[in-house]
Amino acid sequence: HAKAAGRSSVCFFDKSMNARVIRRLDMEAKLRRAIDNDEFEIHYQPKIALPDRTLCGAEALVRWRHDGVLVPPAEFIPIAEETGLIVPLGLIVLTSVLRHIRAWRDEGLRTPRIAVNLSARQLFRPDLAATIFRLIAEYDLSPQNIELELTETQMMADPERAEAALSQLHDAGFSITVDDFGTGYSSLGYLKRLPIQCVKIDKSFIQDIGADSRDEALVDAILAIGRSMKLDVVAEGVETEEQLQFLSKRGCPQIQGYLFSRPMPEEQFRHWELDSPENSADGQKSS
Ligand code: C2E
Ligand code: MG
Ligand code: MG
Ligand code: MG
Repeated sequence: HAKAAGRSSVCFFDKSMNARVIRRLDMEAKLRRAIDNDEFEIHYQPKIALPDRTLCGAEALVRWRHDGVLVPPAEFIPIAEETGLIVPLGLIVLTSVLRHIRAWRDEGLRTPRIAVNLSARQLFRPDLAATIFRLIAEYDLSPQNIELELTETQMMADPERAEAALSQLHDAGFSITVDDFGTGYSSLGYLKRLPIQCVKIDKSFIQDIGADSRDEALVDAILAIGRSMKLDVVAEGVETEEQLQFLSKRGCPQIQGYLFSRPMPEEQFRHWELDSPENSADGQKSS
């Protein structure tokens, strides 16, 4: 009867809550250990300039090598953000990227600008800029080597603090990019207020090019905003020749996606993308 059902559903709810909390605590403990044991690696995904299809940069994407398995960020970044572990993890990512760029330069390879994803938790720390400046100096690199990607939702978590923090980074020479553009709920006004150089069209808009004319209209509109506001635009998640054709025709300046390359380990990125002066990122390597 009703009372029994009520009791049992309360009991069920408690149990699943419990399981969730335990799983989260377990994940947090594992992440903490992973940070201590240096279990993270950085993969790089090329950014390609159109129409020449040349490499014009790359995005650093973190992976967790856990018990021999490569864990994708979707499985640990959200927990790292909730727990604040994203701060030490972000430092590991940034340090690894700077170490790689420095190694490429020392070996006479090309050093394209590398985009690093930042979370709001990092951006809103008062010591972020000082930390980045210190690391850049330590590796004898320049802010031009690095681009910082933040989602619009994260920037808008606290627009005033975001503006202050981003201005400081921008004034020092770092390039700032809005990631997953178009998926947040904020007004476009921030594009004018914040010191932004580039927007990345979210892959959800790119995926239905050719199938949904409304997505095509949105992509067109974002490209137009980019042109009129003198912002760079990158289309992310480009997987098909059809999407590429559409984007080229509409004058999209840069693309990123599986069609050209998946994110790859550093050794592979260095070998395939950086190791020849006139490499064109379309697979025609001069070796
Ligand atoms: P994001 O910054 O928007 O990165 C783009 C994601 O799309 C990457 O997923 C990339 O592998 C994937 N991608 C690239 N091309 C294609 C394509 O053609 N098709 C499809 N379906 N996907 C494509 P990934 O590496 O799993 O990263 C997911 C998210 O995790 C990132 O989204 C970013 O928000 C976050 N993330 C990754 N690395 C870091 C990091 O070092 N720090 C922080 N704070 N977040 C990170
Ligand atoms: Mg990104
Ligand atoms: Mg994105
Ligand atoms: Mg994303």
